[in-house]
Amino acid sequence: MKANCWHGTQQVQVEHVPDPKILNPRDAIVRITKTAICGSDLHLYNGYIPSMRRGDVLGHEFMGEIVELGSAVKNLAVGDRVVVPFPIACGHCLQCEREMYSLCENSNPNAWMAEKLWGYSPCGIFGYSHMLGGFPGGQAEYVRVPFADIGPIKVPDNLEDDQVLFLSDIFPTGWMAAEACNIKPGDTIAVWGCGPVAQFAIKSAYMMGAAKVIAIDRFEYRMRIARERAGAETINYEEEDVHEVLLEITGGRGPDACIDAVGLEGHAPGLHGAYDRVKQATMLETDRAPALRQAIMECRSGGTVSVAGVYGGFIDKFPMGAVVNRSLTIRSGQTHVQRYMRPLLERVQNGDIDPSFVITHRMRLEDAPRGYRIFNNKEDDCLKVVLEA
Ligand SMILES: [Zn+2]
Ligand SMILES: [Zn+2]
Repeated sequence: MKANCWHGTQQVQVEHVPDPKILNPRDAIVRITKTAICGSDLHLYNGYIPSMRRGDVLGHEFMGEIVELGSAVKNLAVGDRVVVPFPIACGHCLQCEREMYSLCENSNPNAWMAEKLWGYSPCGIFGYSHMLGGFPGGQAEYVRVPFADIGPIKVPDNLEDDQVLFLSDIFPTGWMAAEACNIKPGDTIAVWGCGPVAQFAIKSAYMMGAAKVIAIDRFEYRMRIARERAGAETINYEEEDVHEVLLEITGGRGPDACIDAVGLEGHAPGLHGAYDRVKQATMLETDRAPALRQAIMECRSGGTVSVAGVYGGFIDKFPMGAVVNRSLTIRSGQTHVQRYMRPLLERVQNGDIDPSFVITHRMRLEDAPRGYRIFNNKEDDCLKVVLEA
């Protein structure tokens, strides 16, 4: 089959690899129809996530048709059209029973690698390094889905692929980021970033009753989408003083909650940005965190900072003093996608949201290297690339 494979920093290529096979009774083989490139794939592309190997198949946002099932999967049938959540979860361990699916204790065969870096291991993830299981991803013609009786959900015929594909990650991820803010009617929420997850966080915050959502970025085309399609006010941090504008909007108190939808490759103007780049390049920190630092500093006292952006290791100049002295709550986590897929599918069916609003580029799987390049470089007003397998 054809698959998009990682070959080093800023090198991906579509090549022929062996077809996946059923290995366990709870496996399924899915023929991919649509798959997407995620902002977190760019962290792999740019070489920030350790334990990638040449030839690894990328991709954790995908959907398709079941073509083969293990003997223990009773709730799906060959021919079913399914969306697959990015966290691989067994459904029966302590964490899965608590619906903390991204913390599944049984799905990462390389748990020892993650334990070295993080203390304990989270779940395995499709196409996201050997530290997270070494599972081949879904930017391919076919994929093996472990624990297929727990993860994938069947989608109704009347919804297009583009409307349901993002139930695999970014819609639940934006939703969980907003949910973590414990939004009360009338709240003002600030979101760092206007990437795809940020767009869903904005939409979700409004669905939960926020009065105003302010999104902070530097790319005009992304801020325009946040304004026109998600309803946010926007601040360009290269042109305006974020602190001053937020104070003005919130009556001098700060936003009730702040969402970091940027993660470890954040940018900052001037000296701050240069500081992080030097620290990261010299391995004095692994992650650049200007967005997270600012989100903490800007959040109103007693408020919540919700971290949806991916961080991998260690950051420098973390403002813990602000957290302690101003009673801030920090919440984070890889998304427990399985928990949100059905309720969010219902919202798509009800017409509360059409998740396809983030798509700017559609191309063939063969064009994945071009998709990565333009998405990474923010060329051609690229916000979200969907690949057709
Ligand atoms: Zn993703
Ligand atoms: Zn589990």
